[in-house]
Amino acid sequence: MSPEYIFMKIKRRKTRTVNIGGVKIGSGHPIAIQSMTKTGTSDIEATVKQIEGLVKSGCEIIRVAVKDHKDAAAIADIKKSIDIPLVADIHFDHTLAIEAISSGADKIRINPGNISKEKDIDEVIGSASDKGIPIRIGVNSGSLTEMHSSLGRSAERMVDSALRYLEYFKKRKFEDLVISLKASEVSVTRDAYKLMAERCDHPFHVGVTAAGLPEEGIIKSSMGIGTLLLDGIGDTIRVSLTGDPEKEIDAAKNILSASGVRKFGPEIIACPTCGRCQVDLVPIVEDLKKRLQSVAHSPQPNDKPLLIALMGCEVNGPGEAKGADIGIAFGKGKGAIFSGGEIVKTVNVAHAVDELVKILKSGRG
Ligand code: SF4
Repeated sequence: MSPEYIFMKIKRRKTRTVNIGGVKIGSGHPIAIQSMTKTGTSDIEATVKQIEGLVKSGCEIIRVAVKDHKDAAAIADIKKSIDIPLVADIHFDHTLAIEAISSGADKIRINPGNISKEKDIDEVIGSASDKGIPIRIGVNSGSLTEMHSSLGRSAERMVDSALRYLEYFKKRKFEDLVISLKASEVSVTRDAYKLMAERCDHPFHVGVTAAGLPEEGIIKSSMGIGTLLLDGIGDTIRVSLTGDPEKEIDAAKNILSASGVRKFGPEIIACPTCGRCQVDLVPIVEDLKKRLQSVAHSPQPNDKPLLIALMGCEVNGPGEAKGADIGIAFGKGKGAIFSGGEIVKTVNVAHAVDELVKILKSGRG
């Protein structure tokens, strides 16, 4: 896990712990960020390159699509080049799951909608048990079982599909399970997870499926994932976007941070500006954001990340700046720097960010 501060104001749903290749998930552990590669998995070089970029952004668990035996075999080579757990995404053909497991996958995702023969499931359970790896029961609104999809899509049908599968795994005494219930509609996703939360204690991988291009997809994911996180539901998350996967990681971090379940560094409160604004606030905020990346800042005593306010005028400025750990309330040509609720300095606008960074570096912020 990256060394960001973790603080949990929210009471999380109590779950079992599942170990995915060394990353433990469940209520006792930080909510992990997942993404999925968009390369052909058997193109090992391109897949590893994409995973490296995602890891740099903050991805903690990676999933790859396994559509044939070449993809399944490629997992062995991909694993040699990466340091995060790899999940093999399997549909239709259970033998791909078995091959992915023997290639070293740290978790298998199978879909009740397209792998349903008891004999096939038993073989996957046998392989996963032998290797000691978990399985995700990944229900998706777009691929419900024939029985469930013929009745239409709904949260209840998704939960019923997951529960039938779950019961089968339990009968086979395999409970090292993660569950997901992704729908493309935010409300169905939310309802499905909430219903399922009442029915089991397995960790959940949470996401809104097929959320679309970043502009809409980030909003749908923020609503779907964010609502569940605020209710304490969710142990790993993925923001599914049509486009650059690194955007999924940035969005995931922002959702975790806004939900208050994980933080990834200082948080900037900045006013939206209006006709009263006394400064050109946007470049000031951008400048600070950039510079904060290189400022070593200590966690607050209660392990909360630093809260920094940048406010455009005297209406809400002093109040927000006072309430933050450090902040500036701008006025005409000047800014009052607050630290710990008191004004510590009044500076010219041109030097405001320099001064604030100086205070942070001195450890007084
Ligand atoms: S703090 Fe001032 S400038 Fe910023 S939005 Fe509020 S009233 Fe407008």
